[in-house]
Amino acid sequence: MKNKIDKKNYHKETRMIHGDFYSVHWDYKDHMTPPMSSSAAFRLESAERGAEGFIEFANPNFDRHKKSPILIYERLDEPSRSMLEDNLATAEEGECAVAFATGMAAITASILSIVKAGEAIIAHPTLYGCTFSLFANWLPKYGIEVRWVDLKDKKALQQNLDEKVKVVYCETPTNPILEIVDIKKIKETIDSAKIKQKVYFIVDNTFSTPFCQRPLTLGADIVVHSLTKNIGGFGTDMGGVWIGPKTLENTVLLFRKDFGAPLSAKSSWHFLVYGLPTLAVRTRKQMESALKVAQFLEKHPLVQKVHYPGLKSHPQYSIAKRQMVDPEGNFAPGIMLYFVLKGKPEEAQKLGRKVMNHIAGNALALTLAVSLGNIRTLIEHPSSMTHAPLPLDAQVKAGIDPGGIRISIGIENYKDILKDLSQALDFAKKR
Ligand code: PLP
Repeated sequence: MKNKIDKKNYHKETRMIHGDFYSVHWDYKDHMTPPMSSSAAFRLESAERGAEGFIEFANPNFDRHKKSPILIYERLDEPSRSMLEDNLATAEEGECAVAFATGMAAITASILSIVKAGEAIIAHPTLYGCTFSLFANWLPKYGIEVRWVDLKDKKALQQNLDEKVKVVYCETPTNPILEIVDIKKIKETIDSAKIKQKVYFIVDNTFSTPFCQRPLTLGADIVVHSLTKNIGGFGTDMGGVWIGPKTLENTVLLFRKDFGAPLSAKSSWHFLVYGLPTLAVRTRKQMESALKVAQFLEKHPLVQKVHYPGLKSHPQYSIAKRQMVDPEGNFAPGIMLYFVLKGKPEEAQKLGRKVMNHIAGNALALTLAVSLGNIRTLIEHPSSMTHAPLPLDAQVKAGIDPGGIRISIGIENYKDILKDLSQALDFAKKR
């Protein structure tokens, strides 16, 4: 039997590997790897115990982090998922986490657990395509007003913060153009607004991961993630997570119970055993390559501009340097790049298509595919793929170029990424 170890004395990356051997959800001290549960329903010793479980679930008088809950049904609570939730909360330095089947399910829960008909949210206009679609096409149908405000503009935010607003929402860096929103400044602006109600500041931290940025330590109230991406890392499972204050945990658990879309036990296990423990080592290698690819593209004669928060030419480089840091304080500008080829928009788009098609047919180190945060380097065309739900005028407003190309750097040897990319650019130039 091990003595109780004070895990706070260990580095975050070590804790993500060893996790919580003394988890109240499952004391797995004899397993080196956390066990995987697989049971949609759980045996109840008595009718009374079953009834007690229903009373305890999402009850403010019951703390599921202190006492093992009575397990009833996978959609309510589940041990593999709960262990993952504890580790995700630790990674983001949040109070608690609730995991969902996809990132979109977590985002939907983050909004609908707070906002109701007649109220409003403020959202930064550059967002992942389906988040944009949720806000633009669905929320207004349920009576929720969406105000699109450039969160880099303090005055615009101040002008829009009135009695109706319950949420301010952004990604940083934004998908796909990698703008940086200053989290601390947004929090200060919300706090100084002359309004009585609590305004929740939600940050989608998918692009940064908790390795590169921890928004809750900078003033955000809630963080959401697509676990499908960097945290999963291997592209085998979909998932999402909400991380936030304990005061909202029960509401979000009830939302998940009734609206559905909990993360499955089996997918939870993959994130717990493979994804989170390898996040630091993957991200460090991917960032080293990302900088080299960004520098290569910046010098390439066919390239008009490159967006990478690690480049000094990035318009918000100084905010990125302050905000995007690993748990030891090193600058951690992430693994995502966006670039635009030279020429008029239609020419750039045509050239970009040639580059991507050449990669699809001839490259080994780069794969033409959506998604991101994978061990494989993925390249895609946001305007016609991930951000197709944005009408063209909304794309322009969001700064998305019709010819812009997004790359998510993998863990291949960077020289091979450069070779395949450079061959594709040479091919496009010749034709
Ligand atoms: N947030 C961001 C920034 C994303 O890029 C995505 C998907 O690409 C999502 C959320 C949605 O995640 P999921 O596909 O897991 O629902």
